[in-house]
Amino acid sequence: MNDGELTGQVRTHIADVPEPRCALHTQVVAPFLSMRRAAHADGFDLRAASSFRDFSRQLAIWNDKFSGRRPMLDMSGRRIEVDGLDARERIEAILLWSALPGASRHHWGTDVDLIDAQAVPPGYVVQLTPEEFAPGGPFAALAEWLQLNAPRFGFFRPFRGVRSAVQPEPWHFSFAPTAENARRSLRPEVLRQAIAGAPLLGKDQVIARLDELHARYVGAIDWP
Ligand SMILES: [Zn+2]
Repeated sequence: MNDGELTGQVRTHIADVPEPRCALHTQVVAPFLSMRRAAHADGFDLRAASSFRDFSRQLAIWNDKFSGRRPMLDMSGRRIEVDGLDARERIEAILLWSALPGASRHHWGTDVDLIDAQAVPPGYVVQLTPEEFAPGGPFAALAEWLQLNAPRFGFFRPFRGVRSAVQPEPWHFSFAPTAENARRSLRPEVLRQAIAGAPLLGKDQVIARLDELHARYVGAIDWP
């Protein structure tokens, strides 16, 4: 992937999949559809609640959280009041749950947030909360199936709360071969360039701490 692809500023590496509707790296389409077929045989309707996400979308999420237009959540998922926080604290709080624009693994098209569409009633609004994937939640059975089967198709969970500073996300899966190439290519300088030209709230603090943020949120992931 080139720098624009690595940071989600272009989508030349992405294919639009009509069914189930999602957008994935061209190398990830076949493995994802194979995994979906296997899941279907076991009674699941495996779909991506989120797949490729571009830089401008991630920038909008970041700026909405930084400014308080969108709720900021603490580690246990409770809402934090943004007014009392300085820039540094806002950055830390956002990064618990959302990536820095340019540093989201969703930019690569290798990462998907997975749900089982037949496990919830029509009109159900997917939250992507730990409770939905825990025993008793609608996606608990899928979480168990994925833990057993996703590795066969090349997918793993990069955010398990072990090494990664991102909160554990039981729904987030990554196609290891392509994603690992991208992770190694996304050097701090590539990220710095992408951010330098963007209207990012808190940009000065982010740029000043970029090496540290890159190490914590790009470099440190949980391995297969
Ligand atoms: Zn995700």
